[in-house]
Amino acid sequence: MRPEILNPLFAPIGKLQGIGPKLEKLITVLLKGSGQTTMANVVDLLWHLPSGLIDRRFQPKISEVIAGELATLKVTIGEHVPPLGNQRRLPYRVHCFDDTGTIDLIFFHSHTDYLQKQIPVGSVRYISGKIEVFRDIAQMPHPDHMVSQEEFDKLPLVEPVYPMTGGLARKTLQRSVSLALERVPQMPEWQDKAWKKKQKYQSFNEALVDAHAPTDHQNLEPNDPARLRLAYDELLANQLALGLVRAHMRRAAGRTISGTGELRARLLELLPFSLTRSQVQSVEEILKDMTTPERMMRLLQGDVGSGKTIVALLAMLAAVESGAQAAIMAPTEILCRQHFEMMEGLCRQLDVSVVILTGRDTGKARTALLEKIKSGAAQIIIGTHAIFQAGVEFRDLALAVIDEQHRFGVHQRLALQEKAGGGHALDLLVMTATPIPRTLTLTIYGDMDVSKLLEKPAGRLPVDTRVLPISRLNDVTGRLEHSLQQGAQVYWVCPLVEDSELLDLTSAEQRYESLKGLFGDRVGLIHGRMKGQEKEAVMERFRTSQLSILVATTVIEVGVDVPNATIMIIEHAERFGLAQLHQLRGRVGRGGSKSSCLLLYQSPLSETATKRLKIMRETEDGFLIAEEDLKLRGTGELLGTRQSGFAHFHIADLDAHSELLAAARDDATMIIAKDARLESARGQALRVLLYLFERNEAIKLLHAG
Ligand code: ADP
Ligand code: MG
Repeated sequence: MRPEILNPLFAPIGKLQGIGPKLEKLITVLLKGSGQTTMANVVDLLWHLPSGLIDRRFQPKISEVIAGELATLKVTIGEHVPPLGNQRRLPYRVHCFDDTGTIDLIFFHSHTDYLQKQIPVGSVRYISGKIEVFRDIAQMPHPDHMVSQEEFDKLPLVEPVYPMTGGLARKTLQRSVSLALERVPQMPEWQDKAWKKKQKYQSFNEALVDAHAPTDHQNLEPNDPARLRLAYDELLANQLALGLVRAHMRRAAGRTISGTGELRARLLELLPFSLTRSQVQSVEEILKDMTTPERMMRLLQGDVGSGKTIVALLAMLAAVESGAQAAIMAPTEILCRQHFEMMEGLCRQLDVSVVILTGRDTGKARTALLEKIKSGAAQIIIGTHAIFQAGVEFRDLALAVIDEQHRFGVHQRLALQEKAGGGHALDLLVMTATPIPRTLTLTIYGDMDVSKLLEKPAGRLPVDTRVLPISRLNDVTGRLEHSLQQGAQVYWVCPLVEDSELLDLTSAEQRYESLKGLFGDRVGLIHGRMKGQEKEAVMERFRTSQLSILVATTVIEVGVDVPNATIMIIEHAERFGLAQLHQLRGRVGRGGSKSSCLLLYQSPLSETATKRLKIMRETEDGFLIAEEDLKLRGTGELLGTRQSGFAHFHIADLDAHSELLAAARDDATMIIAKDARLESARGQALRVLLYLFERNEAIKLLHAG
C-alpha cells in the first residue's frame, strides 16, 4: 500500500485548482507524451524541472539599459502617442522618463482605453521587458509587466521557465507546478545520514523547492546541488528496486539442471561450424548457473550476428536432457518463425519436440498445442509473449529465454516467474543484441549477471559500406541489375510506410512500385502494418530465394537471419539513429560471401547525420558504435528508452550522473544486506522513496516469500 502521505501527489492533475479537462490533457501530453490513456498525476509535475529562467533583477536607470537585455525600470509615464489616423497596424507609443533619460513603450494592435487606464499620463510605473534600440531611441515593445509600486512589491523578480508545448501558456504551467509543489508533504529522510552530510545534500523538500526556483543559470545544470540530490534519490530508487528484485529472485529456490550432455554433444556434431570462444564460454557460464540450485538471472549480450541463438538452444537442450521444458520468447512472429525453423530443423534430428505458439493460433489447433505443452510432449516452446499469458500451462518449465528484448521491464521478468513448474523458480536468460554501455546495463539489468559474445563467428567478411546521395539512385539500380543476375539478395529499407505530408520521406510502398517496374515479380514488400501471416509469407519467399529484393520498413531490424542476403540498401539513412543503422547492416554479412551496405542520404546533411554516416563507414564494431552513439545523442535517447517507458529517469541524467549511479548501486547493496525487508526507520523512509518514484513493484516482493 502506498504510504498515505503520498496520496495528494498521486491524484490526477485535474484535481489541482484551475486545471480543467482540456488543460489536463494538454499538460499530460507535455509530461508524458501523446497517446496516454491515463492523465498525468500531480507527482509528474514535480519532476518537470525548469529549463530556463526570466531574471528581472536588472533594474537600471534608463540611461543604463542594454539593447537586447531584459530590464525592469521605474519610470514616469509621459505623453501617449496613438498612431496617425488611428491605424491599428501602426505602433502606439508611450513616452516614459526618469531623471536620466527617456524610453518609448511600443504597442501594436493596442486598445487605447486599456492603455490609458493601465498607464495614465503622470503615473509612476514599474515596467519590465526586453529593450530595443531604434534610431538611438531606447524602446520596449509590449512590456511583460507594467505595474504600480504596490503590485511590483509582489512580483517575483526571477521566474522559472518550463519546457513547454504548443497551446499552453507559460504562466498557466508555472502556476500548475506551484500548486503541485504546495501539495508535497514533509518527507522523511531516506538518505544515509553520513552520506547526506558528506554530499552536503539538502532535504528532499528543500531540494525540490530549490530545483523549481532557479536564481541563476547555474541552477539549471545537472550538477546544481538541488538537482544532484533529487537525481540521487531517483537513482537510489532505481537501484534499490532492482536490488530487491534480484534478492527476491535469488531467494526463490532454483533447481539443479545438469542434464546428460548427450543432446548437446549431438547438436554440436550437426552444426556445420564450431562455436566461437565466446560462445563456448557463455554456454559454460549459463550451464554453471543452471547447475547450481540458485536460480539463473543472466543477460547474454552479443552484437548482431554474434550467434546468440545457438547458445540459447544449447541451454535449452540442457533443460530437455534433464527431463524439463524450455521456452524462448521473441518479440515478433517473424522472429519466432525463424527460430522455429532453425531449431526444429536441428531438434528433429535429435528427437526433441519443438512447438511454436503465437497469438494467432486459435480454436482446435490452439487447444491441441496447449495440451502438448501441458503434457510435456512439447519440450521446447517458441513463441511471442503469448506463451506467458494466462491459460498456457507447462508441465515442467525450467528455463525461459527472452530474445532481443530491450523492451522488457522488471515487472515482466517477475511475471515470468509465475510460470515455473512445480513451485520452483525458473532460470532466466535474456538475450540482447544492442550493445549497451555499462551505465545503461546497470540501470536496466542491474539485477542480472552478464555473459558477452565478444567476437563474430570466424570467416565473416567485413561489410563494404558506402555512403551515397539519393540523387545517384539510377546508378544504384543499374548496378543492382548486375548483382541480381549473379543471384544476390537485397534488403531495401525505407523509413515510412505511407507518404506523410509532414515528413517528406520516400515511402516503402512507392519504392516497391518503382523497383517492381524495373525488376518485376522478384521484388517483395514487407512493413509493420501488414498482418502477421502476410509478413511471414513474404519473409518466407525471401528466405527461399523466390524474392530477390525485399523492400522493407524497419520491421526487419530485429534479428532476421537470411544468410544468403548480401546487399543492404538504406534509403534516407540520415533519418536513422546509429544503433538502428548498425542493426540493419547486421542483417547482411552473415554468410560466406562478400556483402555490401549502401547508405543513401538526402542532402543537405546535418552535422550529426554526417558524423553518424562517417562512423558507419569506418567501423562495424557494435560497442564502438554504441559509444559514439552515446556521445552524439546522450543516454536518454539511446535504445529508445524514453519511449519504451522503462529505466526512464525524470531527473537523473545518466551522462552527467554516472558517478552517482555507481554510488546508488553500492548504497542499495548495503541496504539490502542490512535491512532486506526495509523495516528499520530508514527502511520505512525508503519505502516512501520507492513509491514516490513509482518503483513500487519491488515493494510487493517484501511481503512475498
Ligand atoms: P544473433 O546473435 O544476431 O542472434 P544468430 O544467432 O542469428 O545471431 O546467428 C547469426 C548467424 O551466424 C546464423 O546464421 C548462425 O547460424 C551463424 N552462426 C552462429 N554461430 C556461428 C559460428 N560459431 N560459426 C559460424 N556461424 C555461426
Ligand atoms: Mg538473434
